[in-house]
Formats: sequence, structure tokens, C-alpha cells
Amino acid sequence: MTDQIYVGVDLGGTTIKVGVCDSEGNLLHKYEGPTGVEFGQDHVIGKIAEYARAAVSETSYAWDQVVGVGAGIAGFLNIAEGIIVASVNLNLHNVPIKQRLEEMLGKPVKIDNDANVAALGEVWSGAGKGLSDVVCYTLGTGVGGGIVENGKLLHGFKGMAGEIGHLCVVPDVEAIQCNCGRVGCLETVSSATGIVRMATNAVERGEFTSLSLLDKIEAKDVFEAARGKDEVALRIVNRAAYYIGRSMATLAVITNPQRFIIGGGVSRAGEILFEPIRAAFNKYTPEPIKDGVDIVAATLGNDAGIVGAAGLNLK
Ligand SMILES: [Zn+2]
Repeated sequence: MTDQIYVGVDLGGTTIKVGVCDSEGNLLHKYEGPTGVEFGQDHVIGKIAEYARAAVSETSYAWDQVVGVGAGIAGFLNIAEGIIVASVNLNLHNVPIKQRLEEMLGKPVKIDNDANVAALGEVWSGAGKGLSDVVCYTLGTGVGGGIVENGKLLHGFKGMAGEIGHLCVVPDVEAIQCNCGRVGCLETVSSATGIVRMATNAVERGEFTSLSLLDKIEAKDVFEAARGKDEVALRIVNRAAYYIGRSMATLAVITNPQRFIIGGGVSRAGEILFEPIRAAFNKYTPEPIKDGVDIVAATLGNDAGIVGAAGLNLK
């Protein structure tokens, strides 16, 4: 039990989620409400402030005990100055959100991108608890990432460090175009979207697979078929995993983490995915660098974002 609390906000296009954490990163209380993007930026910022206060009011703590408020946001951010440069799904452009929320809440406010805060959450009180050097992958519609070095998020020149979904890993002859405009990014093969695309292509080529019986293929169907020893599905899962493991080998050489944490919807596939990831990582990482390093699943699930956002104000 501590007398200080931290407030974290996950600012989504539909819902604003708020978490209240103690100084150990334990999630004490959750609160959420509609974002109301259609009512414009003043409305959205007002709602963040309203929900943050409401969340704390439902705990046994007082607003005075809040150390700070953090927010995880998808989009292009100026993290140092706390400005949303452009967020398409929030329809927010050039919004000095830090300054505006600090005026409304009377507390320090910090922002960071959604994948970074998820990484921070896992390190504070999830699968990376107690560790200071960790790389997190978020495998969902895309591939996101966050790198924690010496207990701090790595930001880089413009705050874009850790965009590991755009590590260029697929050879040109097999590469397809990524949303970022280049070809061969990790995200094109190892996201749910990439897995579904590979499966759909295999079916369209007439390959012999149980996936051809489905009207619409989802990533979880591919993992299910792979578990049932469907060779086409296994090949696709192994390819997605291979490039994740290989990208980890690259990151290990650069950042030397102690642990890789994998979260996001795709990570729920479990060992059928993790085993070939570890195999590729072990194959491509030099012995002294891989020694003592493990690859594990995230444990906070959807709460990683609010917990990590709360953790932005840790000293
Ligand atoms: Zn890309």
C-alpha cells in the first residue's frame, strides 16, 4: 500500500480507457467511456480529464495523491513536447495535449505511443517485472514494438525508435509492399494481416489445406490448422515465426536485452508460434549475446496500455 497513485490513459478511437495504479504498477481500478471523436478535439480532451478524475474518485484515493497522468496514443507524436502531430483515427492534428491536460488536471502529463507504453507496462508489472533491458513485440493487425533500455523507453531522434514492425527482413524476391511504402517489412509476414494474406494466397493457388474449407480465414484459424498438422498452415506459421526470431537476433545484437516479450492478439497462439521463434532466434544470435535471454508471452493483455501509460510518470 502506498500513498501515491499514477493515472494511465489509453486514448482509442472509440473508447478512452483509464487505469489507476499504485507505485508498484498494480492496477487498482479501471474506468472507461466513449471518446466522441466526432465532437472534435475540445470534447476529446475534456473527456480524458473527466474520465481521469472519475476513475480516481471511484478509488479510496484523493486526486491530491496522483503523481501524474500518462497517455498512450496511436499516431505521430512529439513526445518531448507532448503534442499530437497527427492521429488519423482520433482525427487530431497539432494538438498540444500535454499543456491542455496539465491546465485542466493540475498534474504533470506525459504522452507516448501505444506500443511503447504497452512495453513499459509489461516491464513495470507484467512479464518483464524487475528487468531493465527488455524488447516487447505487439503482434496484432500490424507489428508494434517498444524497447526498454536501462529501465527507460528508447525514443531516438524523433521518438520513432522501436518501430520493429518495419525492420526489413524479407528478401526482395519474396517481399511485398508494406503500409509504410517500403517492401519486406516484418509486419508484412508476421502480423495477423500478413498471416491471413499468406493463407489466402495459398488457398487461391489451390494448395491442399483444410483452410480452403473456410469462407473467411482469420489468423487464429491458421494456428488451429497448424496444430492439426495441416502442412500449409504449419509452413505459414513457421514463416511468420522465423522472421520474428530473426528480427530478434538483429535487435539482440544492437540492444542486448535480457528478455523478449510478445503480446497482442497473435501471441495467444502460444507454443506453436513461440517454439519456431526461439529456434530462429537461437540460430541467428551469437552465443554470448543469447546466453540467459528468454522469449516469453506478455501477461497484462489489454491492460498493458493503461498500466504503461500510468508508468510514464515514474521517476
Ligand atoms: Zn513497413
